Amino acid sequence: MTSHSYDVIVAGVGAMGSAACWHLAKRGLKVLGLERFDLGHAMGSSHGLNRIIRLAYFEGSHYVPIVRRAHELWRTTGDEAGMKLLHVTGSIDLAPEGAGPVESSLQSCLDHGLVHERLDGREIARRFPAFQLPEGHVGLWQPDGGFVASEKAIYAHVGLAQARGAEIRTGEPMLDWAPTAQGGVVVRTERGTYSAGRLVITSGGWIADAVPALASKVSTVRQAIGWFTTRRPELFREGAFPVFILSVEEGAFYGFPLYEHPGFKLGGPHFGREPMDPRDDDRTPSPRQVALIRECLRRYIPDAAGDPLTLKGCVYTVSPDEDFIIDAVPGVPQAVFASCCSGHGFKFASAIGEILADLSTSGQSAFDLTPFSLDRLAA
Ligand SMILES: Cc1cc2nc3c(=O)[nH]c(=O)nc-3n(C[C@H](O)[C@H](O)[C@H](O)COP(=O)(O)OP(=O)(O)OC[C@H]3O[C@@H](n4cnc5c(N)ncnc54)[C@H](O)[C@@H]3O)c2cc1C
Repeated sequence: MTSHSYDVIVAGVGAMGSAACWHLAKRGLKVLGLERFDLGHAMGSSHGLNRIIRLAYFEGSHYVPIVRRAHELWRTTGDEAGMKLLHVTGSIDLAPEGAGPVESSLQSCLDHGLVHERLDGREIARRFPAFQLPEGHVGLWQPDGGFVASEKAIYAHVGLAQARGAEIRTGEPMLDWAPTAQGGVVVRTERGTYSAGRLVITSGGWIADAVPALASKVSTVRQAIGWFTTRRPELFREGAFPVFILSVEEGAFYGFPLYEHPGFKLGGPHFGREPMDPRDDDRTPSPRQVALIRECLRRYIPDAAGDPLTLKGCVYTVSPDEDFIIDAVPGVPQAVFASCCSGHGFKFASAIGEILADLSTSGQSAFDLTPFSLDRLAA
């Protein structure tokens, strides 16, 4: 059994935790990152090559300042790591005229002066002939949107953190932790006991194990993604096709230009509401969700409605209002956490890593985190 001392321990080295390790190590702190599985595993929320980044934010204008900072960080972190993490393809929200997603995204553009265009069905078809949308669908185009290479992003953050001295231990879950009388923490794993001044908890779908106050607030649901054979790949290549969110009667689906896979990637329906326990090792995608994805392709993107090449299941960790929760553990200011990113958190991970580093070093953030406080969910 080992016993070591650190400035900060980060429990969970996925999207948020890897970014936190990097931002903490960059500040000269002695960092230990503990990860339950290996890097790049497919048991959590961040696998599957890429994640959409949208600046026009229908989930609420309050996200825009943070996603702007995240956008900047994806570019600079990619440059520092020598990896292309941010792909700017433009993003488009597609929904019936007057429906929530397009109107709310538009509002966020107006509130924050984001470049945007409202497109009617004819213009959408002219620019992106792969879509065959229902009559009356319109689009909100924002040219700075795109995607982040999600698995590469975790590798980049970890590599940069290690280069600044961070220790990353994979296959070593945090079993439990406790505050100490001196105002620090002690963390126990199967391999040892570690002490630190601060703890950052970023354990995704498992967060309630480490933060019991979240147990009644958090739910975990199964989400499907797939890559499908395309008839006309030229319509879907990066540069010709954007990232998108499509709201139709079957649900909300999201897709990407072709990227590092011969198939066209589509996910959804967003918030499929199929509960799962992340402790259960089965990540088979739900047949019902896969059937809905295939129906969406058949009806609205028929040139990508070929056979599935790859199907995967993934975990969404969801809060009751679908906003993030970023806060200190109640009564333990030296332990902070970020989770419940409710199926839309990856794009923010670079900035949330920085926020967690700020919270654990100064107790403050440059951003207004009130909308993400645990208190807002008090019964
Ligand atoms: C299919 C799918 C599609 C999505 N699409 C998008 C999108 O297009 N755009 C977007 O912005 N967001 C998207 N999201 C959401 C986004 O991916 C998540 O919000 C984000 O990945 C969550 O990051 P995380 O760090 O909280 O979780 P994870 O990346 O899962 O990391 C948590 C880590 O903690 C580890 N862990 C757990 N318990 C312990 C422990 N006790 N000790 C040590 N380690 C532990 C886990 O093994 C895991 O590696 C999507 C999510 C899914 C599932």
